[in-house]
Amino acid sequence: MLLEDLGWTPRFAEAFAPYAAQGYLPARVSLEHTHIYRVRTADDEQLARVSGRLRHDASGRADFPAVGDWVVLERPETGGDARIRAVLPRATRFSRRAAGNPTEEQVVAANIDTIFLVSGLDQDFNPRRIERYLVTARDSGAAPVIVLNKADLADDPGAIVIEVQSLAPGVPVHAVSAKTPGSLDALRAFIAPGRTAALLGSSGVGKSSIANGLIGDELLRTREVRESDSRGRHTTTGRQMVLLPGGGILIDTPGMRELQLWDAGESVAGAFADIDALAPGCRFRDCRHVSEPGCAVVAAAADGSLPAVRLESFRKLQDEQDHQATQQDERARIEQKRQGRIGAKALRSRLKDKGRT
Ligand code: GDP
Ligand code: ZN
Repeated sequence: MLLEDLGWTPRFAEAFAPYAAQGYLPARVSLEHTHIYRVRTADDEQLARVSGRLRHDASGRADFPAVGDWVVLERPETGGDARIRAVLPRATRFSRRAAGNPTEEQVVAANIDTIFLVSGLDQDFNPRRIERYLVTARDSGAAPVIVLNKADLADDPGAIVIEVQSLAPGVPVHAVSAKTPGSLDALRAFIAPGRTAALLGSSGVGKSSIANGLIGDELLRTREVRESDSRGRHTTTGRQMVLLPGGGILIDTPGMRELQLWDAGESVAGAFADIDALAPGCRFRDCRHVSEPGCAVVAAAADGSLPAVRLESFRKLQDEQDHQATQQDERARIEQKRQGRIGAKALRSRLKDKGRT
């Protein structure tokens, strides 16, 4: 197996170069348990734990390895689990709010090139949800492809493709049916050898069916792995990173499936090309298109040239991101205060030591 088949690129090679000199191996995380990871090297697959140094240096959960990460692996000389010394800088990342601490970032998957945003053309079909997924994809850095599954249930899938194309100019849109494996060839075109893809979408849209179709029957049987967890119990886990028969890599983690918006940034605006195009006509450069006077976006919604639902979706997502930004600021403030306290304490004890000598 070549590292390139696992998604290795010159960018990772460059980041890894200093470690290569020290005899470490590059490996890609294929499965994440609570405290243990399954990693793939060029030669094999094995279990690994993070090193004490990595744990010590980590400033938050986002610094720990995630599925899809390229890591620096140290092999034990005397058997036992390998150690993950470092995580190479991520090309892309999908994050969510950590369970238990909604202001902490948790990376659910890393280094995904193509993200399939899956909807089902059944009674649950909702273009508004696609807009939402586009924002999430934009934040990650992965290139989105809109997949309209269950085309067999739609009267005129072609018409829906055209409708969806207007929501997302420049983003490929494909109608497929997991029930007709041949139709998935359109998706295979986006997963060239060495490229990594993932599926994102609500429960029931057909992500598992599409994954199974892409993986193919012969590999499906190996999708379940039995291994010991940290307490030595045997557990069965679904594979979270799979090499596809024609080359290419598919990442499918539970975390990817529950993804919500995370980043606060420009992305909401950037994901609405039609609103972006109108914004230069607003009186204020920083217009938020809510109640500002001379807002070209509100005017376009009023005269019908911009569908009112677009403005509604835009505002909803904008509100959600504002809310998160506030939470993140609050967290940064608390962290700063904490650091300040640690600093003051250290200073006091140093002064005390000085006083003693
Ligand atoms: P997931 O929750 O996104 O992984 O969705 P699943 O793959 O489990 O599919 C949910 C249901 O939709 C299952 O009953 C599938 O058999 C069905 N399904 C998936 N793809 C298609 C499709 O292309 N056409 C039809 N008619 N049903 C589908
Ligand atoms: Zn405006």
